[in-house]
Amino acid sequence: MTRIYFRKSLAERFWSNVVKRGDDECWAYRPNTKGYGRYANFSIEKGKNVLSHRFAYLLAYGVDPGAKQVCHTCDNPRCCNPRHLFLGTTQENTADRDAKGRMARGSRQANAKLTEEDVVRIRELRSQGVSHGRIAKMFHVSVGTIKDIDHRRTWHHL
Ligand SMILES: [Zn+2]
Repeated sequence: MTRIYFRKSLAERFWSNVVKRGDDECWAYRPNTKGYGRYANFSIEKGKNVLSHRFAYLLAYGVDPGAKQVCHTCDNPRCCNPRHLFLGTTQENTADRDAKGRMARGSRQANAKLTEEDVVRIRELRSQGVSHGRIAKMFHVSVGTIKDIDHRRTWHHL
């Protein structure tokens, strides 16, 4: 009898280093490793190590982030939960900040809990297939608020 050994795929090796928890919780990459836990131990391009959350994004969505930044809704750099990751560019981030600084039209409306930056993020998350309910939890607003934004019943100037 011949035994055939298959090498574990890159994806399997990667996810075996991630502590997967609930959908809304953060999934840390090699949580017990100090310092270099953020880098996946392999590269897509030769000689270039890739950040673990970028690799997670690539595996989960099948999209190479390329020049774009993979951002965290949870601000946890080690987190590899695809639901906490979204694409952004440095340019977009700067534009958001500028817009806020000049005059945030929507943000100044009475009762506005969200900023224009939040709304942009929310629409990005929706385009990546994140549910209304999950986004509502992330931003501590109602599901209706998220739906209104998604269907452009509110914030249509953005
Ligand atoms: Zn997270």
